[in-house]
Formats: sequence, structure tokens, C-alpha cells
Amino acid sequence: MSRARAAAALLLLLAGAPAGAEELIRVLVKVAPRTVEELRLEDYVAGVVAGEMPASFPPEALKAQAVAARSYALTRKLEAQAANRRWDIATGVLAQVYAAGQASPAARAAVAATEGEVLVLGMEPVEAYFHAACGGRTEGGLAALGRDLSYLSPVECGRCDDAPGVRWKVKVAASEVGKVTGLGGAATDARIVSRSPSGRAERLELARGRTKVVVAATDLRQRLGFSRLPSLAFEVRLEGGALVFEGRGRGHGAGLCQWGAAGLAREGKTYREILLHYYPGTDVVRMY
Ligand SMILES: [Zn+2]
Repeated sequence: MSRARAAAALLLLLAGAPAGAEELIRVLVKVAPRTVEELRLEDYVAGVVAGEMPASFPPEALKAQAVAARSYALTRKLEAQAANRRWDIATGVLAQVYAAGQASPAARAAVAATEGEVLVLGMEPVEAYFHAACGGRTEGGLAALGRDLSYLSPVECGRCDDAPGVRWKVKVAASEVGKVTGLGGAATDARIVSRSPSGRAERLELARGRTKVVVAATDLRQRLGFSRLPSLAFEVRLEGGALVFEGRGRGHGAGLCQWGAAGLAREGKTYREILLHYYPGTDVVRMY
């Protein structure tokens, strides 16, 4: 048995599905009242591809997205089995955006072309996180998401400069920053005190007079709103009663860069090459 086939066989066992059975997934489509929808994994993946990537992206980028989404979904399914949870995966920006019943023909084609293919490390599906645009270099899993995984190491991208809003400038009132960080009034100073290995902000020191607080950049981003502060690849300065964040990239930066994947596809790279670039050390195997 080849290594790839052995991995595929083990995956089937892990997933608890008899050989040849259709792979299903239980999606938590609504939290309250709890609504769980069970559907074919392949249909779910088509919905994620449609929700996460424009249908106009090159086919190889869409295929890479399909394999990443399928792999991530399987890790959640295995986790649900281990925890005896009644649903496998949630929807929305913190999981993967799932566009129910809205899969475009392009998304369906990408899913069909990669049916059953999973990104693995050794014998396990990988947590194939992805984001819109890294802005130059991807982020490590530990810094971005608290997931210290070898295949989420920072890699060069340099293919996402054409992503919409990849360079950005955001002003936040010093009073609001003071409020969300517990300074008790408007911030009078802000500086980045440490950076992750990829150069993104890791910790910031905010001051109000002589009162100082140090906050994790990921916490600050969460408190201000993920979409408001598009990424942690920024510089910050105080200017006329506001903190001015100037940065690049959109999203947490770990794993596959979606606009970078489109760029690589346009250069002629296959979806496997794209996946192996953004998730170093992994393999694509066919699970069913
Ligand atoms: Zn990129």
C-alpha cells in the first residue's frame, strides 16, 4: 500500500465512514435556535468555495480553495467525533464562509475536479486556514491563530498586490482605543513593542499620560472589529486625536493567500503546487 493510500484508508477509519459511503457533514447554520443541516461534504465544499472566492478566479486557484476547505472541514469533523459534538462545523468568518445553495458553476467545477482530495500531513488532514491577501509574506499559525503547526509557517507570497484594499489606512479615535483597552480615557501614545517573525504587530503599548497598557495585537484587532483593522501588518502613529493604522494585507495571514493563489495560478502553477507552497510539507491525497 502506498503512503498516500495508507493515509486515505486511515482517514476513512477516522471519519467512521464505511468505504464507498458518501461523506456527510453537519453544518451549524444557526446558533439560536440551534439549527444543524446535514449535507454531502462535496456540496458543502462547493458552498465554501462560492462563499470564499470570486467565481472569476482562475480554475487552479478555485481548486486549491476547494481542497483547503475540504481538509479544514474534515479536521472539524474529527474534532466533533472526539468531543461527541452534534455538529461538525460552524459558518461565518471565524470558520469558513458557507454560501448555502449559491455555488457557482465555477465553484462546482473546482469541487468536482478535486473530489475527495484532502491535504494531509503524514496521515492526518491539516487545518488548512486561509485568508484574503497576506500583503507580501504569510503569517505563522501560532502568531495568527494560536495554532503552532509546522505547515502554517510563514512563506513568501508577493503575488497579492492587486487584491482590492491590500494597502489600507484606518483612523480610530484615541478615545475609542482608550476605551477598548481599559486606559480610562483617550490614548496619548501608541507604539508596537514586539513583532511576529513575519513582521506583523504582536504587542502594542498604549499610554494615557503615565498610565500604560500592553495589549496583544490580535486582541486589539478583535476588540476594534476584524473587518475594521484588516490585518496586523501595520504601523501606527498618533495624529490629531486619532490613532492612524497604516498597513497591508487582509485577514489573519496564515495558510493560503487567496489573491496570491490567483496570482500563482495565472503564472501557470497547478492547484497542488499552490497548496504545497502555502502549506509547506503537506501532501494532497485522495480520500474517497
Ligand atoms: Zn499574498
